[in-house]
Amino acid sequence: MEQSVLFRCPRIGMNVQHLLTGLEQIGPDTHLPVVCPACSSVDFVNASTGKLLGYRSAVMAVDG
Ligand SMILES: [Zn+2]
Repeated sequence: MEQSVLFRCPRIGMNVQHLLTGLEQIGPDTHLPVVCPACSSVDFVNASTGKLLGYRSAVMAVDG
């Protein structure tokens, strides 16, 4: 199971897309560590909603 998420990097304010994989191994509403392609730092992204942990930035999940 895979899901693309689009989120706004809280550090540089750039929209980045990331493909989450291995979602069948985790429960719902789980945050996964993602190496941000924009700033190379690790962000924690909610696998269900695509929201970043600890940030209030606007995000949206992208199907497919
Ligand atoms: Zn970032």
